Amino acid sequence: MKVLSALFVYSFLLSFLRTSSTLDTITPSQSIRDGETLVSASGRYELGFFSPGSSKSRYVGIWFGVSNDTVVWVANREIPLKNRLGVLKVTNRGILVLLDSTNTSIWSSNISRTAGNKINNPTAQLLDSGNLVVTDGNNSDPKSFLWQSFDHPSDTLLPDMKIGWDSASGLDRYLTAWKSPEDPAQGEFSGVLDRRGLPQVVCMQGDKIKGRPGSWNGLYFTGKPWLRPNPLFKYEFVLNEKAVYYNYKLLNNSILLRYVLNSLGNGLAYRWMARTQSWDLLTSYQSDECQNYGHCGAYASCNINESPVCACLKGFIPKFPKDWNSAYWSGGCVRGTPLGCNNGDGFLKYKGVKLPDTSSSWFDRNMNLKECEELCLKNCSCRAYANLDIRNGGSGCLLWFADLVDLVVLQMGGQDLYIRVAASELDHIEKNRHFVQKYQVIIIVCSAILLTVMLALGLVTYVRRMKLRKEGMNIRRQNDYNNEDKKEDMELPIFDLITISNATDNFANNNKLGEGGFGSVYKGTLLRGQEIAVKRLSKNSGQGLNEFKNEVILIAKLQHRNLVKLLGCCIQEQEKLLIYEYMHNKSLDSFIFDQSKSRLLDWRMRHSIIGGIARGLLYLHEDSRLRIIHRDLKASNVLLDNNMNPKISDFGLAKTFGRDQTEADTNRIVGTYGYMPPEYAGYGQISVKTDVFSFGVLLLEIVSGKKNKELCNSGQCLNLLGHAWKLWIEDKPMELIDEFLVLGDSCILSEVLRCIHVGLLCVQQRPEDRPNMSSVVLMLSSDNSLPNPRQPGFVAGKTSLGEDSSPGNLEMPSINEVTITVLEAR
Ligand code: AMP
Repeated sequence: MKVLSALFVYSFLLSFLRTSSTLDTITPSQSIRDGETLVSASGRYELGFFSPGSSKSRYVGIWFGVSNDTVVWVANREIPLKNRLGVLKVTNRGILVLLDSTNTSIWSSNISRTAGNKINNPTAQLLDSGNLVVTDGNNSDPKSFLWQSFDHPSDTLLPDMKIGWDSASGLDRYLTAWKSPEDPAQGEFSGVLDRRGLPQVVCMQGDKIKGRPGSWNGLYFTGKPWLRPNPLFKYEFVLNEKAVYYNYKLLNNSILLRYVLNSLGNGLAYRWMARTQSWDLLTSYQSDECQNYGHCGAYASCNINESPVCACLKGFIPKFPKDWNSAYWSGGCVRGTPLGCNNGDGFLKYKGVKLPDTSSSWFDRNMNLKECEELCLKNCSCRAYANLDIRNGGSGCLLWFADLVDLVVLQMGGQDLYIRVAASELDHIEKNRHFVQKYQVIIIVCSAILLTVMLALGLVTYVRRMKLRKEGMNIRRQNDYNNEDKKEDMELPIFDLITISNATDNFANNNKLGEGGFGSVYKGTLLRGQEIAVKRLSKNSGQGLNEFKNEVILIAKLQHRNLVKLLGCCIQEQEKLLIYEYMHNKSLDSFIFDQSKSRLLDWRMRHSIIGGIARGLLYLHEDSRLRIIHRDLKASNVLLDNNMNPKISDFGLAKTFGRDQTEADTNRIVGTYGYMPPEYAGYGQISVKTDVFSFGVLLLEIVSGKKNKELCNSGQCLNLLGHAWKLWIEDKPMELIDEFLVLGDSCILSEVLRCIHVGLLCVQQRPEDRPNMSSVVLMLSSDNSLPNPRQPGFVAGKTSLGEDSSPGNLEMPSINEVTITVLEAR
């Protein structure tokens, strides 16, 4: 009896130890069953069985102790267990095996290295680095590891892991994304170190390059200039005969960091935030066209801040001009003049670029830039050269021997690239430069004379007008309109009315795209097949005339990829028409507020739309020649092209300011209730912060999928701003997010929450509290901490103007879609 009870106590203790202690090793006499885990020494990582998302399949994986749904490595990625009867063991030969309920091995590790013939004491151990290793005994020397999970990465690169190759193990380590968040099987994206030419990191989609962080320039990957020395981690790029790899190491061991290649092919770095118990995106991910590999084809550069984004390099012309002019860039460019080879070709310098694809390059560490140039000139097939290493003023030589593909103009960082062109092209460019230099004085004198003449003419016209006005004559008679307009130098194609009538089938109803504040918009097709959108100013809309002229003059001067492009206008027979590029996906409101279409806009798209609108607005406020306040920014005034790029439209209500003017009062309240800030709706006070407020409303609408109108919930009626504010102060902003987004694969919670935060900062009641658009753009793309927002301008059916804000409360109508134009007496 005594023996039996002793046995019982012993087995109880054993099972207690098994489940409650934190084992980090197993030997052949032990195993891990579903429900049990191995925990690394400090508890940072755990290994066990899991099911991703709502999947029922079981996998063996490693995850973070603080965040058990963040899996960093999976053993049986391709063959899941169908039930919870799996067992993980280490064999006497030091091999990890995963057995299913029939005792069949569905996954096993192969020994990477053999440590002699006989393995005496095989042990599997989960290290505090997240590395699962098999050793002979408890040997912690990495050289003696028989196998390690770090040699077989899944989708995550942890500190100390390597991406790349080394000759000792013969292994080439690379990341492979999951198929989907519910399926860890190998997906279509992988992150590899391409060793051809100068090694470069590329993201592959199947066997095609999707994106290219690029080659290493001593400081960072050429396409990722923000990866610089920082207090969180240091990194290393090793390139020699024995190894080519990249890895990073933590500088402070208390932080948790991970880099993951997600199932959409986006590489994202995260840091664990203990305060919020969530992962914070470390590097902002900006998806723009220029990040698509070879977006502009060969011998062209991609610049996200230009419109169009693609441009042939100097001395090159589009290979397929028709395609190029229709924005099909992938055909790229070809030389305008063939190279003379040894007869005096030269080089054009490009500053601050992401270097082209280096898979057909050659490099030498010891040469300097001059020697590099000479070597390139000597070889007819050499297309370009650059420094290999940009540190200490630059060193080494990198030469290209194939078409230059994937050259991107960077907004920060980047390096100098010297591109070979024919001597005659250089002459041409040089001549132009010399011409300008030589005739600079003459040009300056001529310009001064011309300016004086123009000023004199302007003065004469002004004096004449004043005289006419004094005499009571109305210089702006309707009949004079056409003549007046001809005098305006609009540099804009003037279309014939017949052309536009034919294109729109005489403004047929079935071509009508929509109705704006000042008239209808029709779809049209010009004879050459080009699709257009025609805004027809209502004939009887007297007040629309000014807006029409305003819009023509304004838009004609503006060029930005996030502003809709004006192709021309037509003023004939009482018709006043604006001809725009046609936007295939119409307006944003038709997506975000439509139950089924909103599903087409996943978070990645919405985030890129928010960024695009912010950049367009920033251009209007700060980067265009005039400071322009849109005054009617709303979802229906954001149009989407066929790539879902957002473009702000409808400048009819825009008000220009001089460069140094920031605020004004207006006696015409125009815009759309729901998007108007209190100081504008109440007192006609207008500034760039008017648009910032509208942007904030729009941002919250995009995130929530709800219009800013009264939403009544359990007897309480609040508009979207009030609702967002309530959730914010109750610390549950997540409840604002469109349900469909939360379920979507691409939803990055920290990004969405940041957008809500920025949205609330933009709609604060006092204009001076709202950020300007340059801060907004920065806030959206960085992870710096943000100030706390104060109460929004309109939170309920009524405004929340303070006590000192006479004249009293303003009712906020629930309709927010229609642009209103209220004329007040001057
Ligand atoms: P607006 O007068 O600019 O507010 O335009 C009214 C509606 O016409 C918009 O909400 C769009 O649905 C449509 N629309 C305006 N411009 C375009 C365009 N360039 N391409 C396609 N649809 C347009």
